[in-house]
Amino acid sequence: MPTAACGIDCSVCRLFILGVCSTCGPGTSREAELKVAAQKRLLGAPCSILACARMNRVAYCLRDCASFPCDHFALGPYPFSQGFLSMQKRRRAEASPGKSPAGEPVQVPEQYWDVLTRMKIQDLCCNAGVHHESPGKIRIPFLKEELRIDLKERLLFRKAGASWDRIQDPFLVLMCLVYLLGVKDIPLGGRMIGVNELKTAHFFQGPHALRNEPLLRRFGQDLDGFRRSAQALGGEALDLADAAYALHPFPRIPLYYLMWEGDEEFSPRLSVLFDETIETLLPADAIWGLVNLVSYRLLISGNPTV
Ligand code: SF4
Ligand code: SF4
Repeated sequence: MPTAACGIDCSVCRLFILGVCSTCGPGTSREAELKVAAQKRLLGAPCSILACARMNRVAYCLRDCASFPCDHFALGPYPFSQGFLSMQKRRRAEASPGKSPAGEPVQVPEQYWDVLTRMKIQDLCCNAGVHHESPGKIRIPFLKEELRIDLKERLLFRKAGASWDRIQDPFLVLMCLVYLLGVKDIPLGGRMIGVNELKTAHFFQGPHALRNEPLLRRFGQDLDGFRRSAQALGGEALDLADAAYALHPFPRIPLYYLMWEGDEEFSPRLSVLFDETIETLLPADAIWGLVNLVSYRLLISGNPTV
């Protein structure tokens, strides 16, 4: 594989073609192991990017590491300029899914908080399968994370070790509120259905079509990467398709991701399925938003922040 962990494509470099320089390869490759050994032997120390990617089992820093662009790039002499790294930082932040189909930033309507604070908190927690932690505070699991909603402050927090970090992500706040406001204490139906079987199937067209392309681009030829990402989000493996996982964004809402790997003949395929009860718990726009949010988490998860 002639692309290095840092993203440099050696196959188009004259030094590689002339045989003057070998490729570093992905951080998980034999090439990386050999290159690190050669750099230690010849230079006294390996490239810190390659050594870090190798140590953390990161194939490609730009694609797979949540820490990119890290200090190894910012402080090192190469391969990228500060301008390129700043652009990557800015555009990665802009690419989060917190936008409406029209591209507007998501807003959290204050009425949602108003309605929530007027509800009986015990009933609300029972319906949603969440924990009433203390007056005005609700613990709500999201994928593998533990979140806390503070109804008095109207804020959302994420458990980080022994403390709680405030979450400044209106999209996640909105999804938590919509879940709490709409969910009911009903058992799962047990039958998986696709978008076309929803009563509101017409909604999932055009700008509301589920955005499967980024997942297909990233995992269509890399099912192990898909498995790592799904498992990092607490997904349960299912004996379906080439690789399939049940993910639990919220306690009463499973989402099923089924992936078929592509090859030279066939393109990869992805199906996102729901429990048949989903429309009694969430409106169509919330289903669309939740799938976007979970798909985004799949894309950015899998490799630890190192
Ligand atoms: S920066 Fe490091 S990983 Fe990238 S090509 Fe150079 S030696 Fe290899
Ligand atoms: S922290 Fe991540 S992005 Fe930075 S060098 Fe290590 S693997 Fe690459």
